[in-house]
Amino acid sequence: MPIAATDSLVDASTWAVARNLSLFLVVVFWLATAYWVLADARRRVDDPWLVATAGLLGLVPPFVGPVVYLFFRPPETIDERRERELEMRAIEARLAESDLCCPVCRGRVDSSYLVCPVCTTRLKHACAECGAPLEPIWQACPYCATPVPPAAITGGDALQPLRPRRRSR
Ligand SMILES: [Zn+2]
Ligand SMILES: [Zn+2]
Repeated sequence: MPIAATDSLVDASTWAVARNLSLFLVVVFWLATAYWVLADARRRVDDPWLVATAGLLGLVPPFVGPVVYLFFRPPETIDERRERELEMRAIEARLAESDLCCPVCRGRVDSSYLVCPVCTTRLKHACAECGAPLEPIWQACPYCATPVPPAAITGGDALQPLRPRRRSR
């Protein structure tokens, strides 16, 4: 066999190996991107059908699908959304709590006030031990565990319940 022919034969097989190797890498990369799309969609989308659609989009068309998915995927994950909703609910609860009014003059009062600062109506009794404001129905102070005397609960001076302010919208 002439030397030149052997050379070209070696060249051909080297080229075939290189081609197969790069093809293999491309396929691996393709499957990896498709898997990433599926995993990412699972973290962001609740609906299993939409997750399946996103997974299919990650697979076909190769490499273009994941880019298209990036444009349309939800901005936050399910966990992030849940956390945000919990935070919003906590903020709303805090707002509702601080949104109380005096039963007599409708002035804005805080849940920790003992008397209304505007009309001096007694709103709550103070704990005899630590002075913390007590809710009318409490039988013991939650801060220092001192029992509330029954006289303070039934209350000589009528305590009126605080009401949430009516929101004007
Ligand atoms: Zn008042
Ligand atoms: Zn107390």
